[in-house]
Amino acid sequence: MQIKNVERLRRRCEVRSVAIAEVEKALHGTRAQVERQLLQRLNDALVYAWSHSPFYIDRFKDKTIPERVRHIARGSVGAFQQVRPTSSSWDGEGAWGAIPFTTKEDLREGYPSRFLAVPWSRVTRYGESTGSSGAPTSAFMTEQDWERGSVWLELSLLEHFGPQDIVFIAVPYELSFAAPDLDGAFRNLGAAVVAVGSLNSVCPWSRTLEMMCVLKPSVLVCTPTRALRLFDMCLEAGKVPSEIGLRSILYVGEACSPAKLAKLAAAWGVSLTTAYGATETNALALPCHHDRLHLLEHRFFFEVIDPNTHAAVDDGCLGELAVTTLGHEAMPLIRYRTGDAVVVDREPCLCGLGFRTIRHLGRLSDAIAVDGHGLLKAELENAVLNVAGTGVYCVSGVNSGRLEVFVQMIDDERVVAEAVASDIAARFRVPAVVRRLDTRDVGRLMDSMLKPGGVSFEQVREAVETVR
Ligand SMILES: [Zn+2]
Repeated sequence: MQIKNVERLRRRCEVRSVAIAEVEKALHGTRAQVERQLLQRLNDALVYAWSHSPFYIDRFKDKTIPERVRHIARGSVGAFQQVRPTSSSWDGEGAWGAIPFTTKEDLREGYPSRFLAVPWSRVTRYGESTGSSGAPTSAFMTEQDWERGSVWLELSLLEHFGPQDIVFIAVPYELSFAAPDLDGAFRNLGAAVVAVGSLNSVCPWSRTLEMMCVLKPSVLVCTPTRALRLFDMCLEAGKVPSEIGLRSILYVGEACSPAKLAKLAAAWGVSLTTAYGATETNALALPCHHDRLHLLEHRFFFEVIDPNTHAAVDDGCLGELAVTTLGHEAMPLIRYRTGDAVVVDREPCLCGLGFRTIRHLGRLSDAIAVDGHGLLKAELENAVLNVAGTGVYCVSGVNSGRLEVFVQMIDDERVVAEAVASDIAARFRVPAVVRRLDTRDVGRLMDSMLKPGGVSFEQVREAVETVR
């Protein structure tokens, strides 16, 4: 051991101290201060991205970007001083709006390192995700990027959890940021972390359940559908779920309707907490002690846009979330379209934090297109699972041009199916074929799945056709 290396350990602590100071400042900020600081931070973000990231250096050469935006990229800080936050968005007098969006496709084409803005020697974490097209995208963090995110996560978790907790983290660790980030934050706040992961051969769900029955965790980190499946597995094994003594579920990785969440909380007899993020950025919004999800507006600039016209959408209205990173070293992103359907709310929260809150309603690409309507799955699921006599599982899609809804039923099939169909017709003006979803089918499908979320419409249809 070399004594001089102790200094490196100390520097590691300093990175964390700086991140904590940033969080402390943000906590004291009013809404007006948050918006004022955004001006400078947006300037800085553009200057940094356009001088460090290979992707944005090339993009800056794009002649369609107006000269006044180029001024900013050349370092003439203050070019956005004309910009004033309006009630709903930053219009930038056209300047900001002229900057092209960054898309998932850009990330795929930039694989593996066109978005990397620092030398590899400064990267301390690398992640990948595979989208629907199968092509991977990459994500990078420096130590500073990581700490800036994780201190806020830790602070947020401290509102709900502490050293008394045993925490099962049952989401994938492989190539992800969320699991190791949650793992570190829980450990730092003194909880006992059990890293069971998800969909791995060491801890299949059966073993996770056995361990839960023995170790009796108070907290489970999981997707909502998996938490429901674990509940069913517990009953199937002849065990009493309440004897595990679970107190709270922190659900991540899956947009879920309020109706399904209420049934999940009631089944396990627990309180629910959530966090929201993207693979490329890690956490974007975290809960306060009033259980509202606050956007991390000191580290990101958030826009909500109409996914078709790209026009800004007012607070309180549904749109697609676009994100600009503020101060990210390894992988700056400018106007990155997340593909997530969200509602951002400006209503002040009782906790006093000056950051807006967000509701995540799922992927826009998952919306069901039928009869000229685009139905968000979470909204449809909410309507269906609020009908009396329905269970917890609901899977829908389009079959031969018609909306088809598979739903778990705990009462008479004919009565429940009619009630669900008439509710959908009244609410969404769309006719629907409603069919029973067998709990055993859901269990069998989920147990063979290689993805952490819920079962898909195609899987359910295939299972039903196979039985016939
Ligand atoms: Zn709050």
